[in-house]
Amino acid sequence: MLVVMHASASTSDIDRVCVAISAMGFQPLPMPGAQRTTVGLVGNDRRVDGSHIEALPGVAEIIYVSSPFKQVSREWRAENTTVTIAPGVTFGGRDVPVIAGPCSVESESQILAAAFAVRAAGAVALRGGAFKPRSSPYSFQGMGKEGLALLQRAKQETGLAIVTEAMDDDGAHLVAEYADCIQIGARNMQNYSLLKTVGKLRKPVMLKRGMAATVQELLLSAEYILSEGNDQVILCERGVRTWDPSSRNMFDLNAIPTVQKLSHLPMIADPSHGTGVRDRVSPMARAAVAAGADGLLIEVHPDPNKAFSDGAQSLFPQQFADLMGELHAIASAIGRHVAVLPATP
Ligand code: PEP
Ligand code: MN
Repeated sequence: MLVVMHASASTSDIDRVCVAISAMGFQPLPMPGAQRTTVGLVGNDRRVDGSHIEALPGVAEIIYVSSPFKQVSREWRAENTTVTIAPGVTFGGRDVPVIAGPCSVESESQILAAAFAVRAAGAVALRGGAFKPRSSPYSFQGMGKEGLALLQRAKQETGLAIVTEAMDDDGAHLVAEYADCIQIGARNMQNYSLLKTVGKLRKPVMLKRGMAATVQELLLSAEYILSEGNDQVILCERGVRTWDPSSRNMFDLNAIPTVQKLSHLPMIADPSHGTGVRDRVSPMARAAVAAGADGLLIEVHPDPNKAFSDGAQSLFPQQFADLMGELHAIASAIGRHVAVLPATP
């Protein structure tokens, strides 16, 4: 439930509404807006009767949020939420930031080469997993803490923001020390304990859609993070399971405008996992920007044929540089702008 205050409501009017909500056993969440303040009632509000709150001074109206996700919905907040992961790297505004880098951090020379290459091509953030959720326990599992230290080194050298995955509660605290944005992978989209943990951390989170998750399930997972007090959440389409063996996943372009209509959170696209095949990545990246994606996540490796993971979908640095040139043109055609970092770190 949302209590919309009159533009003329005083601080004591707002306080009175908060006290009334607390007295009902719910948590009040005041949200000052450009025109007026709204106060959210957080918790399972299905049986709440807000009529006595409606009668309080300064209250304009009560809105019962009809969608199953509350704080994530456009009903809760009409304007886009912007998520700034580092100075100049903001998702959800006019800018379209591009996050790029290898699937996994493999060595110092590999991650530095990747970082310099994607930086030179115009990426604003570096990706690379130090903790890897692999389908097989015998596949490369990532370099762990050492990998995080290498990402930190790459950040110092290039000025790129860092986006990297956390797989469990302990890992989330560790990753939060190194990353500018914590990635929650497709396999963990419904790991509710992990979602609550990152909801308590005051760090931006990038939540990837599960490989067989509906848009509603994605938004409900995001709700777990917001319900713990963290609204700095970026959503990511990364393809869904398909019956068709011609690609690894089916990239759901449709999810971009669908999520943007239902939610105020930024929605970015990962055409690398979304297709799983290198020659499809650039066409789908271009399409995602044209469809209004609030950013991109792209796997780029200095030597994809030697990659420890996801080499088949990783772009060569030159392919990535060519793509970035095309993205600038597409973004400007729809009144947006591919984010850029200042010339030298
Ligand atoms: C990744 O980003 O490398 C990754 C493992 O992605 P996903 O969780 O979407 O499979
Ligand atoms: Mn990968």
